[in-house]
Amino acid sequence: MTAFRSQYCGDARKEQVGRTITVAGWVNRRRDHGGLIFIDLRDREGILQVVFNPEVSKGSHAVAIELRNEYVLRVTGKVHLRPPGTENPKLGTGDVELIAEDAEILNRSKTPPFYINEDVEVDEALRLKYRYLYIRREKMQRNLILRHRVVKFMRDFLDDRGFIEIETPVLIKSTPEGARDYLVPSRIYPGKFYALPQSPQQLKQLLMVAGMDKYFQVARCFRDEDPRADRQPEFTQLDLEMSFVDEHDVLDLMEDLFASMVETVTPEKKTAKPFPRLTYKEAMERYGCDKPDIRFGLELAELSDIFAGTEFSVFRTVLEAGGMVKGFAATGCAGYSRSELAGLTEFVKSRGAKGLVTMALEAGSDPAGSPARDSAKSVITKFLTSEQLDEIVKRLGGKTGDLLLIVADQPKTTNAVLAALRSEMASRLGLIDPDVLAFTFILDYPLFERTEDGRWEPMHHPFTAPRDEDIPLLDTDPGSVGARHYDFVCNGCEISSGSIRIHDRRLQEKIFEILGYSKEETEERFGHLLEALEFGAPPHGGIAPGIDRFIMLLIGEDNIREVIAFPKTQSAVDLMLDSPSPVSADQLRELHLRVTEA
Ligand code: ASP
Repeated sequence: MTAFRSQYCGDARKEQVGRTITVAGWVNRRRDHGGLIFIDLRDREGILQVVFNPEVSKGSHAVAIELRNEYVLRVTGKVHLRPPGTENPKLGTGDVELIAEDAEILNRSKTPPFYINEDVEVDEALRLKYRYLYIRREKMQRNLILRHRVVKFMRDFLDDRGFIEIETPVLIKSTPEGARDYLVPSRIYPGKFYALPQSPQQLKQLLMVAGMDKYFQVARCFRDEDPRADRQPEFTQLDLEMSFVDEHDVLDLMEDLFASMVETVTPEKKTAKPFPRLTYKEAMERYGCDKPDIRFGLELAELSDIFAGTEFSVFRTVLEAGGMVKGFAATGCAGYSRSELAGLTEFVKSRGAKGLVTMALEAGSDPAGSPARDSAKSVITKFLTSEQLDEIVKRLGGKTGDLLLIVADQPKTTNAVLAALRSEMASRLGLIDPDVLAFTFILDYPLFERTEDGRWEPMHHPFTAPRDEDIPLLDTDPGSVGARHYDFVCNGCEISSGSIRIHDRRLQEKIFEILGYSKEETEERFGHLLEALEFGAPPHGGIAPGIDRFIMLLIGEDNIREVIAFPKTQSAVDLMLDSPSPVSADQLRELHLRVTEA
């Protein structure tokens, strides 16, 4: 294999019995049984048991006495079958062992700050500071290898479909994706800065103007955002763009790519084509959010119209103030105790709702879903007519034994709280199959949303095309303009957004105007793109699935740092390199910068 070794430790098999091989790796464990010393030698491909017997080789045995965990060892010997009864079915190499004839310590190791040979919890700070040791752990090796397989699959698949991988620069000009930019000061031009790309968005659009037709890139993006558990200041996207397409061309491609990738790379996971395509409105109605987890039911239904006509004044007041009443049926939870119900109320309150109304459909209710008044237990039944009660149960699809959970609040809160409660109940009820990857597409978003100070902001980014038929509304009612924007969701996580783009200068200018950019600002920030749109820009669109986030889902990790080789802490610090760190006064001078006290 190389000058150092003839093969990997992890590749030794019983077909090799009798052969002399040379392996090299790290001491995973050492057991001294008096005469014999056993070493588990580890490399990327696995672990091989090496036996040091002084009667076979005195010299090797002397070397083995010195060995400690994580020493680097090269050993030559003969492959033997393990004595019957001592096989280890947990190891790929478990049928065999290597009887050492020659051994050499290639390097020594200090005692590592945590166990590498055991999957015990390690303090995050230690894990990040000694990242190279943490990556030696089997789990991290597996995660990084899987990541490589996923990216390779993406590249091969897209190459097959006629996509060209093109690198775009990292020192660019600010491109808005809704986050703060990372800036790099220019030494040559005092007071001027490059921005690191929040995404290659404008560059990929310019590649479409350039006639490249189908582009992709495994692209690094940089966003200076407030820390969140599943975010990193830099992350990787599969960025792609296509010319002469509509929404469904892009989504069909994603469906084929992700379904065949899961089938090839993680065949033990289950996914089903076609991936459902829901409108934004439908997703909000049925799931209370635009990133629904569709691995389970527990769908929401609106009850506002029913409650508008009831005697229950608490809900009526909410409705009169523009609120919304919605709920769902938690299967089989009618028997929840008083304290369990109080726990659910606490749950919704901690997420901003004023309260939770529950209704237990106890035995005695009509199994067809029409509970007798005396068997539906709730503080609100006395305010409801039998017809109203029946209608509520029917709308929520409640059955005998279910617990109806109802929230009344402003629409945003009602939806957000119920979406969270739906997931909570699904996990309590064990409705989530961890082996399923349930993909969904969400379409037909509004183009803009209102900020708290009353401005318009793009739902996606300012380059997203409005629906053709809604263009006249841009002047009169921007809030009701639909966008050619879609999201790609898996198991309740947004893995990407994309859109069909604007390819007409005048329309793009109009969008900037609605977003509140002055003419000068538009020209200064986006003049290059606007000008390009005047040179025969083709209709085009694309998407950019986040690779880190997707790998997390694929292997069921809930910490994004477990799928990245050298991540930063949640507060954006690289503990291994100790970065960010101060720079010398000379460097600052060269960059024409002065640091003021924070
Ligand atoms: N640039 C977008 C993003 O980073 C993706 C796209 O519209 O293709 O979310």
